[in-house]
Amino acid sequence: LGVDPLTQRIKEKEKKWKYKIAVLSGKGGVGKSTVAVNLTAALAKMGYFVGILDADIHGPNVAKMLGVDKAEVLAEKFDDGHFEMIPPMADFMGQVTPIKVMSMGMMVPEDQPIIWRGALVTKAIKQLLGDVKWGELDFMIIDFPPGTGDEILTVVQSIQLDAAIIVTTPQEVALLDTGKAVNMMKKMEVPYIAVVENMSYLICPHCGNKIDIFGEGGGEKLAEKEGVDFLGKIPIDLKAREASDLGIPIVLYGDTPAAKAFMEIAEKLV
Ligand code: ADP
Repeated sequence: LGVDPLTQRIKEKEKKWKYKIAVLSGKGGVGKSTVAVNLTAALAKMGYFVGILDADIHGPNVAKMLGVDKAEVLAEKFDDGHFEMIPPMADFMGQVTPIKVMSMGMMVPEDQPIIWRGALVTKAIKQLLGDVKWGELDFMIIDFPPGTGDEILTVVQSIQLDAAIIVTTPQEVALLDTGKAVNMMKKMEVPYIAVVENMSYLICPHCGNKIDIFGEGGGEKLAEKEGVDFLGKIPIDLKAREASDLGIPIVLYGDTPAAKAFMEIAEKLV
């Protein structure tokens, strides 16, 4: 009888998070984590309190993208014996409201693969929700692994998501998988679903012309077909690799077309 203490803690904590937004994709490599991290940083730049939970247990890289992968994770012990982790904060030298970051990447050595079965993944995700001192947040952003696996089910069963942002590229193959992710969110009755298209085009640094490397208009077509919102296109950013190596999101790194696109999308979320 009754709910287990961890589930109860999740319920209590959830009440302090105003908007809970999932970021997902049908397949890997479309820039899902890049989108999650940049929207997080954009919202924090606007002054919102944001937390980001990296639910990609098997390949976590959010902490690294926000420059806190080397941060020490402290824990606090409570009277009933349970521990809660204190999320490291990224504020980019005061450029943004401190972002609370929690990721498996902070708890395991970089070169260690995490080989876990479903039950352990479920437990880890629940602990990232309920055993972390998240506090009051305007936005809780959850970055999921690609596809439609256990991690999403666990989160959807644990908290009430307000929105799902599905990241795709303009390519047809990516779009097929993306349709599945959209449909999963519909089945889970997430109230707001929207598509973001990443790597949409490249602005030639020499001539300034727009080059559609992966085709054109796919994300918009998909959103239309599925009857969900289309939030915008993010171009390929030649500085993205440089920024990500430094652990700085593009929106805080420079005044590039991608940075502008991320800010515009974040403004639509508030
Ligand atoms: P996913 O989370 O979908 O697996 P990532 O966010 O890790 O993808 O991105 C994959 C790679 O593509 C990373 O090296 C990232 O820096 C790069 N990338 C993502 N979006 C862009 C973009 N708009 N412009 C340039 N590079 C990008």
